[in-house]
Amino acid sequence: MAAPTFTSTKPIIPLTPVQEPELPVLRRLPPNGKTFFTWTIGCQMNEADTAKIASMLQEAGYERTDSDEHADIVVLNSCVVRQAAEDKVAGKLNSLVRQKRANPDMSVVLTGCMVTKQQEKLREQFPHVDLFFDPSDFEALRAFVPEMTQLDDDITQLPHYYQPETDAGRAGITAYVPIIYGCNFLCSYCIVPYRRGKETSRPFADIVTEVEQLAANGVREVTLLGQTVNAYGHDLPGTPSLADLLRAVDAIPGLERLRFLTSHPKYMGNDIIDAMAELRTACEHMNLPVQAGDNEVLRRMRRTYTRDLWLERIAYTRQQMPDVTVATDIIVGFPGETDEQFQQTYDMLAEARCDKVHLAMYSPRPGTLSARWEDDIPHEEKFRRHQALEELQKEICTETNSRRMGETYEVLVEGKSRGRWSGRTRGNTLVHFDDDRDLFGKLVDVRITYTSPWYLMGEPVGTPR
Ligand code: SAM
Ligand code: SF4
Repeated sequence: MAAPTFTSTKPIIPLTPVQEPELPVLRRLPPNGKTFFTWTIGCQMNEADTAKIASMLQEAGYERTDSDEHADIVVLNSCVVRQAAEDKVAGKLNSLVRQKRANPDMSVVLTGCMVTKQQEKLREQFPHVDLFFDPSDFEALRAFVPEMTQLDDDITQLPHYYQPETDAGRAGITAYVPIIYGCNFLCSYCIVPYRRGKETSRPFADIVTEVEQLAANGVREVTLLGQTVNAYGHDLPGTPSLADLLRAVDAIPGLERLRFLTSHPKYMGNDIIDAMAELRTACEHMNLPVQAGDNEVLRRMRRTYTRDLWLERIAYTRQQMPDVTVATDIIVGFPGETDEQFQQTYDMLAEARCDKVHLAMYSPRPGTLSARWEDDIPHEEKFRRHQALEELQKEICTETNSRRMGETYEVLVEGKSRGRWSGRTRGNTLVHFDDDRDLFGKLVDVRITYTSPWYLMGEPVGTPR
């Protein structure tokens, strides 16, 4: 892939005419008395796949159940990014053996990154699983579920049947929309490219159509997804960029908020940041994983950028959007990471003052380059480094959030948590508040009356909309 420059010279894709979507009429099958249960671990891509699987099953007449005890179909969506995730999937699969014995008609389905190229081995290890299918291979599910073949339309192809549901069974107001699958990087620690393949962008018009339909169905916030979401479009005719796509999606009536993740620092061009700053719906939030703050560790991680580039991208974003919040990912205890190198990461995070840091202890993944190197940082030391960064981040978030006291933020209400309404600001900060009205799905201005490192609380002001 050619590395984009930071100032795009590409012409902006003309927004009109966006291909007029042909919207086929859906024929949802009546309830068939059968139920399904889903269980998901891992990234937002998996969550998006699970939402689509659930929608497909609902179209085919199945009803969601919140327990795997008596479900007719149990779908597990797996992750292998770290050993701990893989162990949880194995534990969940093993817990279903007894149920399958008691109810042989129950179908157990496994998808996600654990499955890719591993089906033969998994079939031996977990003989009670009825169907294995690769991430996003919805055709395999369609062929497995008899009712799906009775539908007039090929539901794997319809962009618009996908309607996320909340736990309470109400139509969701936020949705994930995958825009690019796979990853062309080969970070030395990461198993994703081996399990998700090369980058493949979805056609521009398909994405716009899908978001139009979601917005027409009441979805107010959309998050565009990809392992390297900002590499979007390089493999498509005309090479549209993520900035082009943001502009097209921003114009969709009814959509209030637009987010995207996960971005790679190397492809975080000014064109994307400028579009974020300019567009009505683009939220003031950036997710830009850095992984380490030491250039030698970054080199051995094969991240293809330096610490300074990451800091500079954040500085430019803050210059364009002073209110922006920043999230990042860090791995501690990478093979050979010295105390001094770890200190570089610590100092970089102290300087960057991110709003959220996803911390992970290095976990060797079979087949990756770094798995050939000695995993020489003892678990206790990885843990110590993890704790040190957690403490640092807690201090930073305590200070940042305390400055939010008395401020008013727009909150999109996603549901109730322990009897309180909860939702997120445009900057992705969690806010809870009390109110007797039904505010589900509303945009509510909330004045902050309490702050903590991890969330805010407040009181609604003005009129919900
Ligand atoms: N594409 C994104 C990027 O470039 O940063 C991240 C995708 S990866 C699936 C999600 C996160 O898992 C990474 O940001 C990294 O922090 C973590 N991760 C990946 N491989 C790991 C490993 N072997 N050990 C520990 N954490 C890992
Ligand atoms: Fe994994 Fe690196 Fe690709 Fe992210 S960019 S998915 S960390 S290989």
